Order: sequence, then structure tokens, then C-alpha cells
Amino acid sequence: MQFTRLRLNGFKSFVDQTDLVIQAGLTGVVGPNGCGKSNLLEALRWVMGENRPTAMRGGGMEDVIFAGTATRAARNFAEVSLTIDNADRLAPAQFNDADAIDIIRRITRDAGSAYKAQGKDVRARDVQMLFADAATGATSPALVRQGQISELIHAKPKNRRRILEDAAGIAGLYQRRHEAELKLKGAEANLARLDDTVDQLA
Ligand code: ATP
Repeated sequence: MQFTRLRLNGFKSFVDQTDLVIQAGLTGVVGPNGCGKSNLLEALRWVMGENRPTAMRGGGMEDVIFAGTATRAARNFAEVSLTIDNADRLAPAQFNDADAIDIIRRITRDAGSAYKAQGKDVRARDVQMLFADAATGATSPALVRQGQISELIHAKPKNRRRILEDAAGIAGLYQRRHEAELKLKGAEANLARLDDTVDQLA
């Protein structure tokens, strides 16, 4: 899965619309302290479905919205869009009708966040699955947060295994298994209620 453009609008320090064009050969982003290099990586993680404010160095998810400066008023929303090259048509059928896929996540103060793919509303789960199946996403080991290495060193074996599973691209399968188990439990509860009703009628 090849990312070709990251577009930020009102996200953290990127108050005006800013495009990061990701071309072959891009190996680094340099700039003075505090210019927004980590914010770029956080925008990438966020648009892929990150839901932990702590992973975005914030106390709440609305902290990703530009908070204002002495000269610029705060914004009411933040939006990040990620363009993915889909020329090989490997994306799931739901996304699979174009050479490029645009995923947009937008958060509005007091209204939460929502996703769009190719201009249509999609669920967070669909976006997370799209990236999980391609062995990437918000928790991908390819995105290394500040402090993450020491977390990894001190992690329990079970959590370390989860990192390997993410890298192997099977995180989406765990999610699907979890959803299947919930459905199974629901079906079992329905069957038990049906048995009760049959007993009462007998
Ligand atoms: P370093 O090299 O020191 O790690 P960096 O280039 O990675 O720095 P970032 O950490 O990405 O910089 O950006 C920090 C800047 O982003 C700070 O100036 C901070 O004030 C600004 N910032 C973070 N959140 C917001 C927000 N919600 N609104 C406005 N500015 C924000």
C-alpha cells in the first residue's frame, strides 16, 4: 500500500491547508524543534483510525484541533486526508473502484469525528480494516512514537506478541474473530430466550 499525499487542515499546528506529497525516495522530514514533524506522523496515525488521545500527545481527541495562537483564532474542526495509490486494485471491494483512494477523517468540536472514503461516509471500522489488512494502520510498528521503544522493552510478552501480529497483518483477523464471537453470543442468548418461550407454551 503506497501513500501518495497527506493533507492537513486545522490539525494541531497546521492551521492552513498543507499538503505533504509523498514521492518515491522521500526518506526524512527535517526542521527546527517544534515545527511540526511529529504532528505529521500523528496526522497519519489519526487518519488511519487512532482513537487513543494519549497516542496523539493529548488529553482528549479534540486536542488535535488547532488551538489558536496570539495571532490566529482557534479552529472549530480539524481534517486530515490520506491519498493511497490503488493502481493494483488490492483494496477491499468497498474502496476498490479507483486508481487512488482518498480517506478523510474530520473532527468537529462537540460533535466527534467521522470518516469518508471517496467522498462517501464510512465507518471507523472499515477504515481501520483497510489498513490492518495491508499490515499497516494506527498501531503499525512502522510508526514509532516518542517513548515507544522503552514501552516495548518493558511490555508484557502478550503485548509484544501483538506487535508481531500487527506486523504480520493479522490484526484485522482478530477484530473479525471478536465481532464473530459477539454475534455468536447474541445468537446463543436469542436461542435461550426461544427455549424459555417454547417451555412456557408447552
Ligand atoms: P521536535 O523536533 O522538538 O520533536 P517537532 O518538529 O516534532 O519538534 P511537533 O512536536 O510536531 O514538533 O510540534 C509541536 C508544535 O505543535 C508546538 O509548537 C505546539 O504548540 C504545536 N501544537 C500541538 N498541538 C497544537 C494544537 N492543538 N494547536 C496549535 N498548535 C499545536
